Amino acid sequence: MSNKRASFITSFGQGSGPSPVLLAGHLGQRGAALCNLARLKLPVPPGFVLNTEACRNIASSDPATVENIKAMLAQGLESITTETGCTLGDKRNLLLLAVRPSAPISFPGATEAVLNVGLNDETVEGLGVSAGDHAFAYECYRRLMQNYAQAVLGDDPAVFDDLLNLYVEERGYVSAREIRGTDGPELASRFKAQIESNNDRAFPQDVEEQLWHAVAALARNWQSPRAKQKRKLHGLKEDAGLAIVVQAMVFGNQSDHSGTGHATSRPAQTGEREVGGDYLTNAQGSDLDARLRQVLAIAGPAPSLETEEPGAFAQLASALDVLEHELKDAVEVDFTVAQGALWLLDARPARRTTSANLRILTDLVAREQITKHDALMRIDPVALDQLLHSTIDPAAKRELVAQGIGASPGAASGIISFDANEARVLAGQGIAVILVRTETAPEDIKGLHMADGVLTTRGGMTSHAAVIARGMGKPCVTGASSLRIDMEAGQLKAAGVTLKRGDIITIDGSSGQVLKGQVAVTKPSLSGDFATILTWADETRRMKVRANAETAHDARLARDFGAEGIGLSRTEHMFFEGDRIIAMREMILADTEKERRIALAKILPVLRADFIELFAIMAGMPVTIRLLDPPLHEFLPREVEEIEAMARNLNLEVAGFKKRVLELREQNPMLGHRGVRLLLSYPEITDMQARAIFEAAAHVQATTGTGPIAEVMVPLVASRGELSAVRARIDAVARDVAKETGQKLEYLVGTMIELPRAALRAADIAEAAEFFSFGTNDLTQTTYGISRDDSARFIGEYTNRQIFPHDPFVSLDVEGVGELIAMAVERGRQGRPGLHLGICGEHGGNPDSISFFEAVGLDYVSCSPFRVPVARLAAAQAHLKLARKS
Ligand code: PEP
Ligand code: MG
Repeated sequence: MSNKRASFITSFGQGSGPSPVLLAGHLGQRGAALCNLARLKLPVPPGFVLNTEACRNIASSDPATVENIKAMLAQGLESITTETGCTLGDKRNLLLLAVRPSAPISFPGATEAVLNVGLNDETVEGLGVSAGDHAFAYECYRRLMQNYAQAVLGDDPAVFDDLLNLYVEERGYVSAREIRGTDGPELASRFKAQIESNNDRAFPQDVEEQLWHAVAALARNWQSPRAKQKRKLHGLKEDAGLAIVVQAMVFGNQSDHSGTGHATSRPAQTGEREVGGDYLTNAQGSDLDARLRQVLAIAGPAPSLETEEPGAFAQLASALDVLEHELKDAVEVDFTVAQGALWLLDARPARRTTSANLRILTDLVAREQITKHDALMRIDPVALDQLLHSTIDPAAKRELVAQGIGASPGAASGIISFDANEARVLAGQGIAVILVRTETAPEDIKGLHMADGVLTTRGGMTSHAAVIARGMGKPCVTGASSLRIDMEAGQLKAAGVTLKRGDIITIDGSSGQVLKGQVAVTKPSLSGDFATILTWADETRRMKVRANAETAHDARLARDFGAEGIGLSRTEHMFFEGDRIIAMREMILADTEKERRIALAKILPVLRADFIELFAIMAGMPVTIRLLDPPLHEFLPREVEEIEAMARNLNLEVAGFKKRVLELREQNPMLGHRGVRLLLSYPEITDMQARAIFEAAAHVQATTGTGPIAEVMVPLVASRGELSAVRARIDAVARDVAKETGQKLEYLVGTMIELPRAALRAADIAEAAEFFSFGTNDLTQTTYGISRDDSARFIGEYTNRQIFPHDPFVSLDVEGVGELIAMAVERGRQGRPGLHLGICGEHGGNPDSISFFEAVGLDYVSCSPFRVPVARLAAAQAHLKLARKS
């Protein structure tokens, strides 16, 4: 055998298969599995794999290579003949073949198989004699013709089903199971005639021709646009290769002691070590998938495979044991029982739910089959989300109204409310509500708190609604731009559907779907395995994980999910609670500093109480409090009626008041008078916030004996000068409070890095900052020049057309924004050795981004509380990956 030839096929048989090192991807999943099974001396019908290179050559039809491959096929056949003693086309010792695709991963309908290759008008008689059953022989022949017509000739298989049903009717049979051997020739000739009339050519009687056409068709079908599309849907590359398995047939349809089934070493729902699966007697594989008849359980009370075929069951259970031990994973197999004997036809890692996966992995570690690190690497961190949130029941019917962006995971149903106040009132009455808005504003916060879910027609992953909903662990869909809200009519309109205020909808914050009516939702349940896995992650990771939280509720949640501090407390949300908004508005509208200070003095005690609560909950852990960031107009009413009502409440003259509100309104609020700029214009805001923080810290220190680690963070800094000026006031307030309370206060002052200039000038800025926290939401926005609130309008198209590999507001743009971060890390540490570095943008909870943050050496990531478990695991994986690389 020449080397070139040897590279095209790999034979396997009873007790013989190539060693696992040779099982490269070019054999496909099934091909590699069969070689493995054979090597482990498990029962597989002998055969060979035509590798991906051979299949590519067949598809491209280079004549010399095709001849070469045909010669290879002949050789492969010889080895099957040697193993079985049967020959293709030999009526007395008949070899029949199964030709099956072997894709890189197993997925339904990869391409169709062709079974019973080798039957023709003559050999079918031979099979009838050797099996002692002509009905069976002709059934096999019909199946071959139907498979061949579909896979090789592209015929519609339903035509052949109709042909069969018609015949059954003509004969007055109740079902096709009554077809006798004597019916065989007649039915076979109808099938042949159908093929000829469909294709103007006869079904080939030459058995070698059958084999070649079957192989060539499978190779070519894999290159069809439809197959490429299917591959894409299953996450495979368009140019992924196909291998083909050619194997001796074993028959599950020969008697009631035969059948076909799928079995697993651990059921997909539980992951517990018990044999599961299903089985169909007297049938072949595709019958099982089509669920033609009642299927039996593999194990358990009668009737099951265990009770009907105890010998085959025992063999199967022991094969699953061997395989699980060998693959160090839960496995599932496809099998056939032929006259009581077991044959395995495929094996692969078992499908499983996320909670079952955790059960499997902790059990494999307990059995010392894998290490804790192996277990950690085998979990998709994002999948943990499923365990923390409600999900739509996969079996439920979905009536799609619109597709938006899945901005905060979880599913919820409720009545439509277009008004945050109304939502709050309804929810207070125990009614499930979905708050539906064009976009949300900070003043909607109470409605958001109470609603079961949020839907906005604008916005993206980092818009207000998305950030708040994620923080609260509430389902949220943003950017559902095909929906139109008609506030006047109280209607929500989509293509062909009009929904009214009070109608029920369901939103799926994972997929971004908006569904009509109430759809069944399944609640999360946390197992002990979840905690075990996260403990292993904690032992492994280097980076700390903090949470973004400002309310006591979120802070407690964050701590329960394992956060090691608060990385971002957005204080603006604290200004909306209760009567504070009134004082805040008084402060904004005040004409003099004195008036402003009077208004701020009203807010101080409530803010201090908030901080006392936060410090107490996070006892001893760092809490980063960001000073006021958004532009002031966000605290003022937007609608004319609201402005007028507010003027009346405040006893102000309406026209003058309206003018002032309009003056404060910004067209470009994200780049305008916000963050440190605002703190410099209104230093009394800085003073008040700093005082609230330090008085709270002093109180907690005095009452509990443990001083909190307060980190005061200044937003939107572009230069050292800005930070130094604000810092001077913070330090001054700290000194005053220390003197007044007699407490020695430990605190840090730092800044967010969320502008490109801040990253460039990091060395300089670090001299005035004890820590940096990368605000990657704003840093992405300002680096790209794309408003984070409007990006959803076109980013989807960008990613679909692969202009951007992914949405940079979701997964960090490592090449651009990442380079700025890497530079700021290096320069920052040059400016101040030991500078503490973290990230608090939404990317802090994104596993790919977390890998990058590990690589550049950040000290911690901070993300919304529900994302903390995901980040703990992702940080561990990032650390292991980096360690394995170096
Ligand atoms: C950021 O910009 O990344 C950030 C965390 O701040 P915010 O989202 O509040 O602007
Ligand atoms: Mg920001």
